[in-house]
Amino acid sequence: MSETLANLLHETRQFPPPGALADQANVTANVYGAASADRLGFWERQANRLHWHKRWDEVLDWSNPPFAKWFVGGQLNVAYNCLDRHVEAGRGDKIAYHWEGEPGDTRTITYADLHREVCRAANALTDLGITAGERVAIYMPMIPELPVAMLACARIGATHSVVFGGFSADALKGRIQDQDATLVITADGGFRRGAPSALKPTVDEAVAQCPTVRNVLVVRRTGQDVAWQDGRDLWWHDTVDPASAEHTAQPFDSEHPLYILYTSGTTAKPKGILHTTGGYLTQVAWTHHAVFDLKPDTDIFWCTADIGWVTGHSYIVYGPLANGATQVMYEGTPDTPHRGRFWELVEKYRITILYTAPTAIRTFAKWGDDIPAQFDLSSLRLLGSVGEPINPEAWMWYREHIGGDRCPIVDTWWQTETGAIMISPLPGVTICKPGSAMRPLPGITADIVDDTGTSVPNGGGGYLVIRDPWPAMLRTIWGDDQRYVDTYWSRFDGLYFPGDGAKRDADGDLWLLGRVDDVMLVSGHNISTTEVESALVSHPKVAESAVVGATDPTTGQAIVAFVILRGAAEGDEALVQELRDHVAKTLGPIAKPRQIMLVPELPKTRSGKIMRRLLRDVAENRSMGDVTTLQDSSVMDLISAGLKVGASTED
Ligand code: ATP
Ligand code: MG
Repeated sequence: MSETLANLLHETRQFPPPGALADQANVTANVYGAASADRLGFWERQANRLHWHKRWDEVLDWSNPPFAKWFVGGQLNVAYNCLDRHVEAGRGDKIAYHWEGEPGDTRTITYADLHREVCRAANALTDLGITAGERVAIYMPMIPELPVAMLACARIGATHSVVFGGFSADALKGRIQDQDATLVITADGGFRRGAPSALKPTVDEAVAQCPTVRNVLVVRRTGQDVAWQDGRDLWWHDTVDPASAEHTAQPFDSEHPLYILYTSGTTAKPKGILHTTGGYLTQVAWTHHAVFDLKPDTDIFWCTADIGWVTGHSYIVYGPLANGATQVMYEGTPDTPHRGRFWELVEKYRITILYTAPTAIRTFAKWGDDIPAQFDLSSLRLLGSVGEPINPEAWMWYREHIGGDRCPIVDTWWQTETGAIMISPLPGVTICKPGSAMRPLPGITADIVDDTGTSVPNGGGGYLVIRDPWPAMLRTIWGDDQRYVDTYWSRFDGLYFPGDGAKRDADGDLWLLGRVDDVMLVSGHNISTTEVESALVSHPKVAESAVVGATDPTTGQAIVAFVILRGAAEGDEALVQELRDHVAKTLGPIAKPRQIMLVPELPKTRSGKIMRRLLRDVAENRSMGDVTTLQDSSVMDLISAGLKVGASTED
């Protein structure tokens, strides 16, 4: 960006916390002051919420930046913190997971059950020769054996690497090879969109080219036929011995590698993000307690992410289990067997806290208000959002149609790299604005800077940075320390640069504006794609939009928008004109799109994020770039075929 980001969107709606929630909130306003007065002391108090076999000697070692060590000299076991200590405290009968399979089969798993399963699996892994520090790749559907496998690895100090079950054999192979994994844990398949979807053949294809893999451990989920390689392949039910449920958790160093997780690949070749033990668990447990105001005795928490993404690692597995929460875990998709499935689950389990993504929220809005209206959602008391900037109108829809106009919404900004939530409202404290992630959490020093690394004043926009190390931060990119330094710590001297643009409003609250690579330069002004998308989504007929900058002879770049209409809305030239005028009226004439294309779908990654890179290719009439990380590659054909309406609009 040559100058600061334009600040076009004006949002004046404000929502204070409900009084009753504020009165009983886990975290109150004074925590901000306490944490900024003594940041390390603050994190030390949060580390004390865990069980340490040996206490640390030093909170933070930052003598060799950007390589951090947290709780230096401390020792703990993650699985012990997530399981044993709850069971030992007499909470073994408490439900850890209400699990629901897509076909409707269910399992109820208490903390004692989970502890037993994890001990059995830990013994089985040890019998297979897996030792502390070895890497285990996990490629599974959303079934209880997935968290069991992760916790069993953590329990014996093996480093797990979960690969999302929708990835191809090539993607899986690349990730296994990058970390020299010796074991792959998988399943015959999982249920998706009403049918069994096979996983084992993908593993077979990948592992054929991975000589480090000694064994493949296979959970039987769907019962479909699988090819079998004797000596290498083992059934979970033959290997994990029900009789060997005794296992003593050994302590590991606070900096022992817990897992490697590859980023979702929206921008570049996925990076193997390394997370370690003590600092990571401290921050995921505290943020889950603070941001979701979790009351372990009464709340039912549901994070709808797949465990294959960092959101699932931190807020389906480690954070909630460390806090002794009761959760819902769901195997399938939101539209199977019908489009009310999520709301049916909220009603059935009396879910109190729901954490989902803007892409899902916009899809629900597109499907229609009448669907959630058919279910009893009165148990909900708090809603969360993560993954992309949430447009103000999507936020309002979420608040009204899901939250019954009473639940606060926490818009949580973070990344695979940050490990845990960094910027978010605190639900009992913050007066929320639709579309803003508001403030850095206590203990986090986020800022917005200009090109030269100078903090921008209120009302300004620029680059989001983090000034000081935080406990759950990535420690490196697996096997590539130099790429870690170059990617995150080189743009601004001594500052962590996540790659996102942001603005600070007149009150000092933060608005995330997507990746700086996506920012458009129109007639000398930097305009964020997010703001134009939000303006489009604020039109009642628009469900979703994606905006890109296309090369333009007169303006440098011109704004090109792809729009999906809501439910029954019909599109024609008149509507396209109306939408262009609507953007001009909302944001100013500079932001008026040159072109709007009405499309049936948008290209998304498997984690649901819009891939603007491909839309730029369409907007500039180029042949399409790499589409392999797309959720559904036929979407691009649909888009190209549907480009009739609004393909040319001159003023
Ligand atoms: P890659 O780094 O491989 O391109 P990715 O960035 O999509 O993939 P993730 O780590 O899953 O992989 O996503 C983190 C990014 O998602 C953030 O950097 C930010 O751009 C976006 N994001 C997440 N939460 C929010 C939020 N609440 N508001 C705005 N943006 C968000
Ligand atoms: Mg990223």
